[in-house]
Amino acid sequence: MGSMVDCDSFVSLRDIEVIYENGTVALEPLTLDIARNELTVLLGPSGAGKSSLLRALNHLVIPTRGEVSIRGLGVLATGPTLRRHRRETGMIFQQHQLLGRLTVLQNVLLGRLGHYPAWRTLFPMPAREQEWALDCLDRVGLFEKALVRCDALSGGQQQRVGIARALAQRPRLLLADEPVASLDPAASERILSLLSEICRQDRIPAVVSLHQLEYARAYANRIIGLSHGRLVYDGPPQGLSAEVLTDIYGTPTGAVGDDETHALAKVGEHELIDTG
Ligand code: ADP
Repeated sequence: MGSMVDCDSFVSLRDIEVIYENGTVALEPLTLDIARNELTVLLGPSGAGKSSLLRALNHLVIPTRGEVSIRGLGVLATGPTLRRHRRETGMIFQQHQLLGRLTVLQNVLLGRLGHYPAWRTLFPMPAREQEWALDCLDRVGLFEKALVRCDALSGGQQQRVGIARALAQRPRLLLADEPVASLDPAASERILSLLSEICRQDRIPAVVSLHQLEYARAYANRIIGLSHGRLVYDGPPQGLSAEVLTDIYGTPTGAVGDDETHALAKVGEHELIDTG
């Protein structure tokens, strides 16, 4: 066997499988590498296994089989390796997971806590940490909101706080689980362009799960299409032909949810007909 992690690969998955305790096969054995400065979108309808795959990347879901290795850290197995990997992985969730009664700045500082022992929470964070948190807020365009309570912000602004908190960790990897599922189109586009910019400028790989085809097409460098826990597509957005979309979503009249039907309708009729 050659080197486990090839040159520009940052995360390497080997034969990763996820089966939940109730027997649900969420992910069939899957092998792939994720490179630096690549925004990878996990695309698929609800239940396809996007979230399970995303969470397997930092063992929030422990794969029932296979290995995840991280460049510079090796295989995620022992406690210290895993703790370090989690500390260096910024996670962005659909529901932000912010503390509404704290200020925006305090929420961003929470991103730094993983770098300190637990007793540190009893004391104010050092000035340099506060400055760093403000820099992160500035980057997402929310510097002036630093002292506002988080629950006073709009959904899109809260999600930007979530990104600032992830940046505060000085992450080596970003994972975003349906980050725009509850946002309007303008806010969604802002979030996705921010993620794509961070990925490109900071050379941090980002893995983002989305069920909306139009966003995946617009922002992804690479798309991993999942259907019923199986990888059915791995390639650039341009390669999403009508056949591939049928593999991912089922037929437009088939077993797809409202969101997915909506997404398919937006593909553009000519593309569906021409490629087919
Ligand atoms: P997606 O993110 O694409 O919606 P998930 O990874 O959440 O897909 O789910 C994949 C499959 O695993 C679905 O059938 C889902 O119901 C199931 N599943 C997800 N989480 C659990 C769990 N904790 N226990 C049992 N089944 C689960």
